[in-house]
Amino acid sequence: MAEWLEGTIAGKRHWSQALYSLQIDAPLPAFIAGQYIKVALDLDGERVGRPYSLVNAPAERPLEIYFNEIPEGPLTPKLSDLQVGDRVWVADKASGVFTLDNVVSRRHLWMLATGTALGVYLSMLKTPDAWERFERVILVHGARNTGELSYGETIAELQAAHEDSFTFITALTRDSSETALQGRITSLLENGALQAAAGADITPEDSHLMLCGNSAMITDVRAWLEAHGMRRHKRHEPGHYTTEQYH
Ligand SMILES: Cc1cc2nc3c(=O)[nH]c(=O)nc-3n(C[C@H](O)[C@H](O)[C@H](O)COP(=O)(O)OP(=O)(O)OC[C@H]3O[C@@H](n4cnc5c(N)ncnc54)[C@H](O)[C@@H]3O)c2cc1C
Repeated sequence: MAEWLEGTIAGKRHWSQALYSLQIDAPLPAFIAGQYIKVALDLDGERVGRPYSLVNAPAERPLEIYFNEIPEGPLTPKLSDLQVGDRVWVADKASGVFTLDNVVSRRHLWMLATGTALGVYLSMLKTPDAWERFERVILVHGARNTGELSYGETIAELQAAHEDSFTFITALTRDSSETALQGRITSLLENGALQAAAGADITPEDSHLMLCGNSAMITDVRAWLEAHGMRRHKRHEPGHYTTEQYH
């Protein structure tokens, strides 16, 4: 059973629409980039907790989570009301295996995110591991509109630090922009637009893919990968992709 640590809100960012980041001071022990923590509030006498990927790198504090408010959800409307100084509960250890330890080193690492799943990759990309192990890292962020494209400064910093090895691609489903692809990640994979934008093919020899976000993207991308000779990575059976489903 999780023990709870008392945390304090150290910072808050309301990006736009229903998107928020919270920074939390809490004495969480060491974690691996890609892991998540459970964050909870006491609501009507019950402790309601949900998992959230950490956006901060393991060496960075405060802790940071990135989420969207689900109006009918029990926790997120209350999380988005929190202010600096408010109390929050954090489980006493981070969990999860969606980390670079479970990724096979090949030429190209593809990181595909829908919505708030962008955050988990930022934690990993702020560590040296991905940059030491892959010739190129291709981060793809799928969102509905330009208002949902958060963390621009962090991405610009990564681009400046890894000019030759980092490609960042955005894909918008309900908006158009000169700098974004238009459509769902799966459609762009199927019609080759994603690979063309990256200037790289997705092949069993060259690629490992990480998929994080909504179940529709994960299911559809998995089907495409399996049809192209790529298999889920298992600890004792190296494969080509790993997944983490948020909802
Ligand atoms: C391992 C793991 C890591 C996660 N990390 C994150 C994270 O970093 N950021 C984040 O925003 N969410 C993350 N989630 C989802 C998160 O735990 C909550 O489910 C979400 O924040 C909604 O909480 P809630 O209590 O308001 O509603 P819930 O009762 O949890 O969900 C209400 C409804 O909303 C759906 N839903 C849940 N999340 C979303 C979403 N992001 N967009 C649209 N519909 C959604 C659920 O499927 C459900 O139908 C993660 C989930 C898992 C399993």
